[in-house]
Amino acid sequence: MIKHMNLTENSNRKIVLIGAGIMSATLAVLLKELLPGISITIFERLNKPADESSDAWNNAGTGHSAFCELNYTTEQEDGSMDISKAIKIAAQFEISKQFWAYLIQQQYIASPKDFINHVPHLSFVWGDENVAFLKKRFDALTKSKLFGGMQFSDDPQQLKTWMPLVMQGRNAAEKVAATKMDIGTDVNFGFLTDAMITHLETLDNVKLYLNHEVRDLEKQDDGSWEITLKNLVRNDTVITNADFVFIGAGGGSLPLLQKSGIEEAEGYGGFPVSGQWLKCINEDIIQQHAVKVYGKASVGAPPMSIPHLDTRIINGKKELLFGPFAGFSTKFLKHGSYFDLPKSIEWHNMVPMLAAGWHNLPLTKYLIQQVTQSEQDRLQALKEYFPAAKMEDWELVIAGQRVQVIKKDEREHGVLEFGTELVCAADGSLAALLGASPGASTAVPVMISVLKKCFTANFNSQQWQAKLKEIIPTLEKPWAEYELLCQEIREWTNDVLELNA
Ligand SMILES: Cc1cc2nc3c(=O)[nH]c(=O)nc-3n(C[C@H](O)[C@H](O)[C@H](O)COP(=O)(O)OP(=O)(O)OC[C@H]3O[C@@H](n4cnc5c(N)ncnc54)[C@H](O)[C@@H]3O)c2cc1C
Repeated sequence: MIKHMNLTENSNRKIVLIGAGIMSATLAVLLKELLPGISITIFERLNKPADESSDAWNNAGTGHSAFCELNYTTEQEDGSMDISKAIKIAAQFEISKQFWAYLIQQQYIASPKDFINHVPHLSFVWGDENVAFLKKRFDALTKSKLFGGMQFSDDPQQLKTWMPLVMQGRNAAEKVAATKMDIGTDVNFGFLTDAMITHLETLDNVKLYLNHEVRDLEKQDDGSWEITLKNLVRNDTVITNADFVFIGAGGGSLPLLQKSGIEEAEGYGGFPVSGQWLKCINEDIIQQHAVKVYGKASVGAPPMSIPHLDTRIINGKKELLFGPFAGFSTKFLKHGSYFDLPKSIEWHNMVPMLAAGWHNLPLTKYLIQQVTQSEQDRLQALKEYFPAAKMEDWELVIAGQRVQVIKKDEREHGVLEFGTELVCAADGSLAALLGASPGASTAVPVMISVLKKCFTANFNSQQWQAKLKEIIPTLEKPWAEYELLCQEIREWTNDVLELNA
């Protein structure tokens, strides 16, 4: 029988986290709360933390709660609306909020306003069919208390008060509708990551090495891992070892997982999709919008390409983004190499990767159409959400890079996954996080899964359960129970996180 590692306060077990993004930072804070004496080393290839996907400008900062993202509810063949995914996502975000509220209560972060702000979430559609879908979605969601307070309107006058830019200059004959959830949030995941890392650096036995790129991982006979790194400043090779490794390298996770050679990594491949935003540079326009408006993805578009006109609060300043526009690049990281994709193709994942390509022809077509877009095409897309838009008020900026997971299905064919995938070694000595959706919003529940899968005995111990419940009172409650608990949890977290409107 494979024995999982048991961590104790005074053991000299060494924990290595690869990457200084939101995932590693969250895992490190959780581990230090559970066992303050343990030793954690974080290796980051860039010269600062949170400079890839977790950076505020590299993601949309939406606190994903399924309030506005239409892809989290699906209409079934019998006409009913499946809201189970929406409930799970909304409940997962409540877990993250509880953890962040704990960070504020412990005074690890000075002010919640620096990273989380109240920005209403709207879904907006046009055309008879889409309006009927939205109404059906609204009726189904509002049966759950998690979506209590959601409003629906197909009255253009009402919609004008909710989102003046979207309604200004719109064809009056067009049928439109929106839902609005006032308790939506915008999160600066970059600030949050930096703040957690700053806190970690004040603790004993935590070391952060910047400019250190992990190049290889090799399992040793004693069960530990030998890690080969490149010091990118001195250009020399460093070798270290660890009893537990978390690969939280964002787009860089797949190549490292492959290098680990663990059996569980077999069949995984990755497909990079880059993102771009139109960023508003006209202060007058920025001030006229105060919500996140999410639309419907076009046919073949991956779920993360749902267009949205998005108010952001970044470093205390209100911003306005539209996008994302998808692009294709063979890089796995924004600061990566064009050889990332070709180098990730190995014998074991070649068939799944080819099959995923074959089965996703609409996606391929969509990406080709996106990559060949002109400035005028992008303006046209923006005008669907802001009819009076002029290109001179916007500039194109590069968002982050996502690597969508490709994995074998039951028939050994490849499928493209749009979610997040946690891959753990059977002995719990290594975990890797692949994929990017719903992303940073679910950092806390996903890192709790790492604790549960890799440190099972600790996780089930009375000591860890008590501490975890102090941090996250609703830990391990079934998603459905959040319906009953949500009012209580939200009152507490919204109060601590200063989210009460
Ligand atoms: C366009 C876009 C929009 C998004 N919108 C949202 C949103 O609205 N809401 C949401 O919740 N999520 C969103 N996400 C997803 C979210 O940004 C990610 O899920 C999250 O930031 C991932 O965090 P991470 O810590 O895993 O990765 P990252 O933040 O990318 O961190 C990984 C770190 O590992 C480092 N690294 C990589 N390879 C190595 C190596 N070999 N050695 C050492 N270090 C290495 C990298 O430099 C990086 O600093 C979006 C993502 C994109 C791209």
